[in-house]
Amino acid sequence: MATDPATVTATFRFYEELNDFLPRAQRGRDCVCACARAATVKHMIEALGVPHTEVELILVNGESCGFERLLQDGDRVSVYPQFEAFDVTPLLRVRAEPLRATRFVADAHLGGLAHLLRLTGFDTLYDNHYADSEIEAIAMREGRIVLTRDRELLKRRGVTHGCYVRAIKATPQLREIFARLDLARSARPFSLCLDCNAPLRAIDKTEVDGRAPPGVLARQARFVTCDCCQRVFWEGSHWRHMRDLVDELVPAGRL
Ligand SMILES: [Zn+2]
Repeated sequence: MATDPATVTATFRFYEELNDFLPRAQRGRDCVCACARAATVKHMIEALGVPHTEVELILVNGESCGFERLLQDGDRVSVYPQFEAFDVTPLLRVRAEPLRATRFVADAHLGGLAHLLRLTGFDTLYDNHYADSEIEAIAMREGRIVLTRDRELLKRRGVTHGCYVRAIKATPQLREIFARLDLARSARPFSLCLDCNAPLRAIDKTEVDGRAPPGVLARQARFVTCDCCQRVFWEGSHWRHMRDLVDELVPAGRL
């Protein structure tokens, strides 16, 4: 390797849950790699199996650097996931800006998670016919965070913000994304239509217009509607079984 002028040799070490993306034999230990002379750290990190969206901090020879740093012979590269325990903001060099608005586009198979994100008020596009290229294009155009269990999708050039979703079922997936992105503070439960991803709008009882049973109309005081599907919702029908989950994730989360 060292005698080949087209390559340089660098040592990579991945920390914490980034090891999940590596073959078992490479986890938790130094990995010495031959890299093309013009290879960036981003290219090599992804070639080793770790999507760049999962990376929050890269140190090369102890110094923080960005994804585009070119590898040089003898480099020692330490790659870290998001830190939950302490603030490393001053060290971060990997991407220019956090996204201002927290909006998502969810990959196929994440329909359940998409609905739960809408339930908690997060604008989430989902269609199980989206091709990877469409998801990438939507993420770029609308500044959306890509949610997927497909690491290859996260390696696409246009995907700057994404989350590899580890959990299999929708409710644990929602808890995972809430914790990773610290969503509780910006949640607005029961503000979006679960089917349309459109805002729910409060309406007067007189506007319900036959879209709720008479008993409900007599008992309930507050109604909302979706201007997209025209359905009417009231507290107690649409989301009774979801209330516990919302209360757990968003303390005092109420309509
Ligand atoms: Zn709707």
